[in-house]
Amino acid sequence: MRKDMPEPPHALEVCNHHATGMLEIAWSDGVTGILAHRVLRESCRCAHCTAEMRRGRPVRAGDGTRIVSIEALGGSMLQLVFNDGHQRGIYPLAYLRSLAAPGN
Ligand SMILES: [Zn+2]
Repeated sequence: MRKDMPEPPHALEVCNHHATGMLEIAWSDGVTGILAHRVLRESCRCAHCTAEMRRGRPVRAGDGTRIVSIEALGGSMLQLVFNDGHQRGIYPLAYLRSLAAPGN
């Protein structure tokens, strides 16, 4: 096991801006990532959404898409519940970080 690997940044604070439909995540390395709820919904990688994508029917979420509930799972994942009733989206923090890479 290598010990000189830098620790991946973790989320210090998750702030849900319901009015604008943006999820703001402050990371331990000073980066702040902003993700649109719509983009998060379309980026869901649960079994159902992945299967739909394979069938050529990727999720299309409208601008009115909102996250209605955020649940932390084990410190390294977030479960996001959307206002379209979809609640199976489990988002590893590393995935959220890659979606909201600085400079995007
Ligand atoms: Zn899904």
